[in-house]
Amino acid sequence: MNGGVIAPGAWLGLLGGGQLGRMFTMAAQSMGYRVAVLDPSDRAPAAAVADRHIRGECTDQSALDELARLAQAVTTEFENVPARSIAYLAERCRVSPRADAVEVAQDRIREKEFVQSCGIPVVPWARATARAEIERAPAELFPGILKLSRLGYDGKGQARVASREEALAAFDAFERRPCALERLAPLEREGAVIVARRAPGDLVHFPVAENRHARGILDTTIAPARIGRELAERAAAAAERIAERLDYVGVLCVEFFVLPRGELAVNEIAPRPHNSGHFTIDACITSQFEQQARILAGLPLGAATQHCPAVMVNLLGDLWRTGAPDWTKVLARPAAKLHLYGKDEPRPGRKMGHYTVLAGHVETAIETAEAIRAELGFQARA
Ligand code: ADP
Ligand code: MG
Repeated sequence: MNGGVIAPGAWLGLLGGGQLGRMFTMAAQSMGYRVAVLDPSDRAPAAAVADRHIRGECTDQSALDELARLAQAVTTEFENVPARSIAYLAERCRVSPRADAVEVAQDRIREKEFVQSCGIPVVPWARATARAEIERAPAELFPGILKLSRLGYDGKGQARVASREEALAAFDAFERRPCALERLAPLEREGAVIVARRAPGDLVHFPVAENRHARGILDTTIAPARIGRELAERAAAAAERIAERLDYVGVLCVEFFVLPRGELAVNEIAPRPHNSGHFTIDACITSQFEQQARILAGLPLGAATQHCPAVMVNLLGDLWRTGAPDWTKVLARPAAKLHLYGKDEPRPGRKMGHYTVLAGHVETAIETAEAIRAELGFQARA
């Protein structure tokens, strides 16, 4: 179901209650919407700020019915929402993104085939859905990374493999579930482009961001990315092409690699706002979450223009080893913005919050972000 503008005051719905949902909820509420969150956990970060919390799995039909009765439009905040649940809701209310687009992004094999079908390069790879496919994979794929095709995130469901033998062993350890085998690429940089799209030709992209990962988890985002204009334009054009070809409605993140000689390869796409777009909250005219709310409500997109350079640093549970950090060390810097997600169990590797530093120059933002990191007493996870 589709239609026109859903006016502020109405209910919007959200599948999933994590931090991305929390930031969406806050953005939607600031425009006057009421938000209902469907999540099984009493402690879901988005549920704590939502106007209504429907406790249930996103596969629970009666919970979906309740959400669809209340909300005029529903969106998602995590990647692995079953496409069937989205399709079920779509018969009852407006839903974005659509199930078919989410399905492509949920499956690495389909995702890579799709990106290639758009004429956009990916790193050399092969399907690994049976031992025989690994046995005949080209030698150039080693050393490589074997990635589960479905349900991986933050580096989980991946194994670095030096040889074909290791790939076969890793495939067995993954219980021979479908995988993609990728060549371990020499990464000059990693980046991401976030696109907000309502309809054909009606889309904007945020400035291209540069990402640094540590142990498979995003550590730092630098925006704008320190890459040449031509490369940034190529990355943005690729992201927009993907959004157009998917006929995507919503906020989409395209992660890419910069390879030697300025070659670009798309790594993966996420059918939702993304950790590497958190800088948009403090540094852009419209945040990625506000764009998500606008699109859902049928409102015009806001400008994605960035006010000033920004650096975002993730705060993982590791930092809580000796209790909650002293946040005045962040806030003593007047151009640093602290975001905590209200999670009460700081497990290692768990995303607890982030801070964003704004500055007139990107190098100044990096320096301040690193100084805060040192004062908090943590390094990027080696
Ligand atoms: P996730 O779903 O966990 O984000 P990714 O496929 O994005 O999985 O991999 C996580 C990180 O691992 C990437 O951001 C990158 O740093 C590294 N990585 C992934 N694939 C490759 C590759 N083919 N070559 C080199 N590094 C890679
Ligand atoms: Mg990734």
